[in-house]
Amino acid sequence: MLKITVIGGGAAGFFSAITCAKTYPQARVTLLEAGRQLLAKVRISGGGRCNVTHACFDPGVLVQNYPRGGKALRGAFTRFQPRDTVEWFAGHGVKLKTEEDGRMFPTTDDSGTIVNCLIRAAEDAGVKIRTGDAVVSVKKLTGNTAEGEHEDTAPSFEIELKSGEKLKCDRILLATGSNPLGYKWAKELGNTVELPVPSLFTFNISDTRIKDLAGISVPNAKVKLPGAKLEQSGPLLITHWGLSGPAVLKLSAWGARFLHDRHYKTSVLINWLPQYNAEVLRQQLLAVKSQLSHRLIVSSCPFPVPRRLWERLTSSIGIDEQKRWADLSNKILDRLLLELVQGEYQIAGKGAFKEEFVTCGGVNLKEVDFKTMESRRCPGLFFAGEILDIDGVTGGFNFQSAWTTAWLAGNAIGK
Ligand SMILES: Cc1cc2nc3c(=O)[nH]c(=O)nc-3n(C[C@H](O)[C@H](O)[C@H](O)COP(=O)(O)OP(=O)(O)OC[C@H]3O[C@@H](n4cnc5c(N)ncnc54)[C@H](O)[C@@H]3O)c2cc1C
Repeated sequence: MLKITVIGGGAAGFFSAITCAKTYPQARVTLLEAGRQLLAKVRISGGGRCNVTHACFDPGVLVQNYPRGGKALRGAFTRFQPRDTVEWFAGHGVKLKTEEDGRMFPTTDDSGTIVNCLIRAAEDAGVKIRTGDAVVSVKKLTGNTAEGEHEDTAPSFEIELKSGEKLKCDRILLATGSNPLGYKWAKELGNTVELPVPSLFTFNISDTRIKDLAGISVPNAKVKLPGAKLEQSGPLLITHWGLSGPAVLKLSAWGARFLHDRHYKTSVLINWLPQYNAEVLRQQLLAVKSQLSHRLIVSSCPFPVPRRLWERLTSSIGIDEQKRWADLSNKILDRLLLELVQGEYQIAGKGAFKEEFVTCGGVNLKEVDFKTMESRRCPGLFFAGEILDIDGVTGGFNFQSAWTTAWLAGNAIGK
C-alpha cells in the first residue's frame, strides 16, 4: 500500500490530502499538523469570513493578479480554476457568493463553514489526520541498492516527529506554508528556495500632509514606486501610520522584493486624481482662477479631493488660508498641479496589515513540474500552497493558488 504523508494542515495540505485520498482510495494518506488547531489561517482569513476565491474565470486574466507565479499558474488554471473551486465547494454543500469587487465568500459569511467542510471531506475520504504532531526532520532514504544498479524508482522518506516517533512513507507533500522548516527541508532535498520576504503590507509614512487625517479615503488614486517603475491604482486610505487601501497593498505586493532590498525606505508618488490628464487639470485650474477669482483657494476645491486633504495639500505648498484664486501665480499653480498628480512621500517602514498577509518567495518554480507539483530535483517530493514562490494580491487569489496547486498535487501524488 502506497504511503503518502502530507505535512501541514492548512488550506493546501487539506485540499491535496482530500484530492489524493479520493483519487487513490488504495493509498494511505496521513496529514500531519504541528498545531492543535487545523486550518488556523482559513479560520482567521477574510476577517473571519474566508475570501475563498475570486470571480475571475479567465486564466489569462486571473494570472495577472500574481506578482510571483503567474506564468507557472497559467497552465495550472486551465485544469483547476475559481470555477472549479466554486463547484467543488458546492459539491460539498457549501455555496459561495460574489461581492461587488469580485471576492467570493461562503454565503454564511463564516470561515467556520469552510473549515468544517474541509475537515469533514478529509475524514470522509479516509485521510488520517494527526494534530499536535510537529515534524522536525525529513530525510530521503536512498535504499540498499546493489552496486551498479539503479536506485529504487519508488523513493521513500523518513519523517521524524517532535515526540521522537519516526514515520516512513513513499511520497511526501510539503504544505507547510511560510514556515522556515519547510523551506529548510525543500533545500535539503535539493530544491532552491527564493528568499522569503513579506508581501501585502501598508506603508508607514510620517508627513504633515496626511498627519491626523486617518480615515480619509480616495476611491481611486494612483501610487507609484519610481525607483522600481511600478504603479498601481485603486482605493487609497490614510491611516494613523501612513497609507493603506487596495492601491498600496497591490503596490507592496508587486514591489515586495524592491522594498525589502531598500529596507522599506524609499519614496512613493501619489496621484490623487488619476482620472484626469495633467493638461486637463491645468486648464481646469486656470479656468477656476479666472471664474472663481474672488473665492478662497482653501475653501473652494474644484476637484473631487476630500476637503481636509485639499487644505493640507494647498498649505503644504505655501498657499495660506487668505489666498484667493486670483492671487495664484503660475509658479504656484504648477506646484499645486504637481502636488495633486505627483506628490512625493517618504516611506519610513513597513506597516502591519491584519486582514491578509502572505510571503513572497519560496520553492523555485522552475524546479517543480506544474503538471504534477513534483520536485524535479527530488522524485517523490511534492509541493502545494504558500511554500512555493507564488503569491497573489488580496481578493481570494492566495487561497486559489493553494486550491489549484493542491488539486494538481493530490491528483498526481498517488500515481
Ligand atoms: C490574517 C490572514 C488572512 C488571510 N485572508 C485570506 C483570504 O481571505 N483570502 C486569501 O486568498 N488568502 C488569505 N490569506 C492568505 C492565505 O491564508 C494563505 O495564502 C494560505 O493560508 C496558504 O495556505 P497553506 O496551506 O499553503 O499554508 P498555511 O495556511 O500557512 O498552512 C501551513 C500549515 O503547516 C503547518 N506546519 C508548519 N510547519 C509544520 C511542521 N514542522 N510540522 C507540521 N505542520 C507544520 C502549520 O501549522 C500550518 O497549519 C490570509 C492570510 C492571513 C495571514
